[in-house]
Amino acid sequence: MASVTLKNVYKVYSGNVTAVTDFNLEIKDKEFIILVGPSGCGKSTTLRMIAGLEEITKGELYIGDSLSNDVAPKDRDIAMVFQNYALYPHMTVFDNMAFGLKLRKIPKDEIKRRVEEAARNLDISHLLDRKPKALSGGQRQRVALGRAIVRNPKVFLLDEPLSNLDAKLRAQMRTEIAKLHKRLGTTFIYVTHDQTEAMTMGDRIVVMKDGFIQQVDTPQNLYDFP
Ligand code: ADP
Ligand code: ADP
Repeated sequence: MASVTLKNVYKVYSGNVTAVTDFNLEIKDKEFIILVGPSGCGKSTTLRMIAGLEEITKGELYIGDSLSNDVAPKDRDIAMVFQNYALYPHMTVFDNMAFGLKLRKIPKDEIKRRVEEAARNLDISHLLDRKPKALSGGQRQRVALGRAIVRNPKVFLLDEPLSNLDAKLRAQMRTEIAKLHKRLGTTFIYVTHDQTEAMTMGDRIVVMKDGFIQQVDTPQNLYDFP
């Protein structure tokens, strides 16, 4: 579990594209934060800087109390879930979920225990021997979540995880992800351009525009609930 703090963070891509300007935010331990805003406003870039997949041009990133600008992605105790699931097609669900743990030389019986527990939590125990192509979109997204969960990360980053799902599944997964957040007791940072997800899932919403933070507030204060 960990807080995440960004202080005066900027991202300038080559070609002088400023994607993020003076980003300041303190995300509390166990908080569910939503980053929302139109396409191109800098949401993914912010998430990728937190994950270490993108270098921070200027400013400071703290994970917990540690200045983490220069920490390698694999050493950040962070797991990221992508929109396109990014599963390995030739591997079974079990091996997809186990892959990151094998890389980290976790013992086999521990891997088995963690994968089976995550699979139970996500209701995919019956799918462990299948290949991704034999799964529905919703099932694939569960596997992608499972692969992140088994690592016991302190911080979960989710980049538009539901945008490839149909409306009915999206509604179901919104509830499930909110439940998962409660059960794991982990910090969640969730990027979306979907107003319903923003309104219903997070503790606080960060509204971005043109690389700036426009507003930070609770859903209750940001949206006029009747
Ligand atoms: P969002 O996730 O909100 O859609 P992004 O963070 O992907 O926004 O992009 C923010 C801005 O940075 C956009 O203007 C985008 O074109 C630009 N950008 C994103 N990635 C790169 C890159 N690798 N090189 C140059 N510009 C980029
Ligand atoms: P290896 O690469 O050594 O052949 P595998 O990747 O096939 O190992 O499996 C690693 C471990 O995970 C083994 O102990 C195996 O029994 C277990 N395992 C593989 N698939 C499943 C599954 N569907 N359910 C439970 N355990 C599994």
